[in-house]
Amino acid sequence: MYRRELLQFIGSQALFGAINPEFAWNYQNIDHWGELSRNYRLCTTGKQQTPIDLSIVTEKELYHPTFNYRPVPLKIRHNGRTILVKTEKCGNMSFHGEDWDLLQFHFHHPSEHQIKGQSFPLEIHLVHRNGRGNLAVVGILAEIGAHNPYLQTIWAYLPQEPSPEMIIPDTWVNARLLLPENRDFYEYRGSLSTPPCSEDVLWLVWQNAIKISPQQLQQLAAILPRNARNIQPLNGRSILHS
Ligand SMILES: [Zn+2]
Repeated sequence: MYRRELLQFIGSQALFGAINPEFAWNYQNIDHWGELSRNYRLCTTGKQQTPIDLSIVTEKELYHPTFNYRPVPLKIRHNGRTILVKTEKCGNMSFHGEDWDLLQFHFHHPSEHQIKGQSFPLEIHLVHRNGRGNLAVVGILAEIGAHNPYLQTIWAYLPQEPSPEMIIPDTWVNARLLLPENRDFYEYRGSLSTPPCSEDVLWLVWQNAIKISPQQLQQLAAILPRNARNIQPLNGRSILHS
């Protein structure tokens, strides 16, 4: 099975002359990501991988980010592995005097990060990039509770199967409304939690979870199988908490 996938992957590279990151990896071959491509090697050999359990923390007065997001028309896609909302030109996050543009956010269920060993039913990743090409991801956890009206704006258009991007011009999303009120967060150096598992990604994970109703969670789970990577070793990294 694995060998066949590998051959298909090599075949596709020969065919297209370039690595297509959309190809080959999935949550069934999660234990083999590092072997699927040279470019995915860090998934196996990396020492700063994401996700982690946020339990052994260093308390510190941390610099808080500010969010300068504006509403943008909903652009949504089911790419076979997650539901992705594209947010180019929606604004940025200011952090340590730098602007980080919000490129997209997407969903994992159950959560990838854990807090003191506790997993959550959903995690949202808001992916940012600064002018130097570095990435910063804000992680928002969600727990079962009241119906979430903001998520519902997106949920109303959840694609039922993998599909090209849909643009819904009269539905506006504002990523700012995803953030919990309480601003306590964890900060650490990690990686992309999907291939190519690139490191030097700045992670800011909010301590307080937002709510999602059981029906909303069920709606997502029905179209998206489990898409969370296992907890990775800390390897001596510090987790700061404010
Ligand atoms: Zn993610």
